[in-house]
Amino acid sequence: MATSSFTKKTLGLDTAEPAVTPPPVSNNTTSFAKKPRPRSKSKKREIPEGLWTKCPKCATMVFDKELDENLKVCPHCQHHFPVGSRERIHSLVETCTFEEMDADMVSVDVLNFTGVASYTSKLEEYQKSTGLKDAVVTGIGKIGEHRAGLGVMDFSFLGGSMGSVVGEKLARLIERATETALPLIIISTSGGARMYEGMFSLMQMAKTCAALAYHAKARLPYLSVLTHPTTAGVMASYASVGDLILAEPGAMIGFAGPRVIKDTTQAELPPGFQTAEFLLDHGLIDAIVPRKEIKPRLVEYLSFMSDGQKPAVAA
Ligand SMILES: [Zn+2]
Repeated sequence: MATSSFTKKTLGLDTAEPAVTPPPVSNNTTSFAKKPRPRSKSKKREIPEGLWTKCPKCATMVFDKELDENLKVCPHCQHHFPVGSRERIHSLVETCTFEEMDADMVSVDVLNFTGVASYTSKLEEYQKSTGLKDAVVTGIGKIGEHRAGLGVMDFSFLGGSMGSVVGEKLARLIERATETALPLIIISTSGGARMYEGMFSLMQMAKTCAALAYHAKARLPYLSVLTHPTTAGVMASYASVGDLILAEPGAMIGFAGPRVIKDTTQAELPPGFQTAEFLLDHGLIDAIVPRKEIKPRLVEYLSFMSDGQKPAVAA
């Protein structure tokens, strides 16, 4: 009896042995799982890249060249894709008439801001990827027969955020326009004030609006063009104080985002809330102008608004 109980205990070694066999089984399953992966990758590689863009609104594949020729507007559903500041200026200004101002102005990391990455490294990254120094390009150019101050924001640079450079470049542009009696056009697109610069970005709202007040006092026209999206600190300052405010179709325009407003007011938001169309109906903007018509419309408005001014200046 006692010997048999001893043999049962030694069997414990036998139970340990089968544990050696399972690993090859698990190895087989991993090798099976790996096999289909290269097949799916090779299928993805067959789609040509950089030639076609899928329209997010109508899902049509649009030939990139066709899209560029159509000023980045979908030829099927008229969806307005984002446009860079350089392309925008090229589409508005007469050839070789644009004199850029403060092209080398760069932001300084005054607050030594570090989040996921440092502000300095963010700036370097965006300067490399966009070829821009900051989120706005300013200068004087000829639009039709009118010389005008032109500021164009670029959403691809840190979400078109307004920091001290955006504010300073725009303020200098507005002051130059006031000094030289030129009308002013600012094309906005922005996610708001640049959090990396804290208070320095918020004070740009007052600075740009103060400069615009002097421009208005000189009875010079200021046209503000809102493109998708124009929000927060930019919308709450220079973008919303134009003598005429135009917007591109379907552009999202507002101060706080719809989710924040919904959470704060605890109310259902009306359909089309914060779109250019909704704001036109409610009187915040004056006209919705498709991208292709923006240049002729600007020329028309500038002619209308500066016509009465020429005799006054001459007198
Ligand atoms: Zn489309």
